[in-house]
Order: sequence, then structure tokens, then C-alpha cells
Amino acid sequence: MNYCSHCAAPVALRKPPGDDRPRFVCDACGAIHYQNPRVVVGCIPQWEERILLCRRAIAPRTGMWTLPAGYLENGETIIEGARRETLEEAGAGVADLFPYLLFNLTVVNQIYIMFRARMSGPRFAPGKESLEVRLFAQLEIPWEELAFTVIRASLERFFQDRPSGFYPFFMGDM
Ligand code: ZN
Repeated sequence: MNYCSHCAAPVALRKPPGDDRPRFVCDACGAIHYQNPRVVVGCIPQWEERILLCRRAIAPRTGMWTLPAGYLENGETIIEGARRETLEEAGAGVADLFPYLLFNLTVVNQIYIMFRARMSGPRFAPGKESLEVRLFAQLEIPWEELAFTVIRASLERFFQDRPSGFYPFFMGDM
């Protein structure tokens, strides 16, 4: 951050009185601009035995495969966000969303929350952020072409739990 979003004066990074870490502070208007982690929400959409993945049309990792997920919007619940992202990126409606995975990605200041979800039907189509959307059986998952470590970890966990049919909520750090 270089300029104050309230008054457009330059900001400085320093510790405000009584705080324990540096913030972007505006000396012109006194605003303190706090920056906090962003929440990414998404789904592991299932149709029968298969999982829906999207091939990314956007940077980073263009051309790699991912699960439908994106930033939560203001005023939205995490289920609404996961459902919206799945519709936007994969053109797929999902029902029966169960909270399943939470990863603290402290290096990039994100909290990543994934739901298991059942697709409402075998209908899907690439949204503008996807080149291609496809259903994959477990043996077809393109492990070497997954976009992010957190996607790999999510799918590994899912296929590890699936034989038992028991999917305990998992929280991990990356
Ligand atoms: Zn200001």
C-alpha cells in the first residue's frame, strides 16, 4: 500500500501506539489501514464416483487443473461463496455442501475452506476463468498438473477418506 484510500496522502508502515505490529498509517487523516487474511472458499464437486476439476484460464498457473474456489465476497456466507464459485468457474450447480477442509496458508495470508458437495446433475461448462471443465475418476486425476499444493492436499485427503465413507473435518497449516 502506498497511498491512503481515504485521502490519497502517502502512507507509512509503522507500529501505531498500543499495537504490536506495523500497519499502514496515514499521517494526513490519521487512518490506520489494517490488512487481514482473505478467505478462499470452494468445493470438491462429486458426480457419482467422479470429481469435477477446472483447467485455469487465468494466471497464476494458467493451464493447470484446480478445484472450483475463489475469494469470499462481503455479505456472503462461506456456503454461498463456495456454491457461487462452483457455478462461475465450472457451470455446475451443487447441493449438500459439507464443510470438510480448512488450511491456514499463512505465507500468502489466506484461509482456504473446502466443502464436499454433490452435483445437482452431470451438467457443467467452463466459466470465463476456466479453459475446460471435466469429471475425473480417481485414477484419472492429473496429479502432476494440479495448480496448487493446497489442491493436491485436498484431493489426497478426499481419496484417503473415501473408502471408509467417513470424512472427518480436517484442519491443516501450510
Ligand atoms: Zn489518509
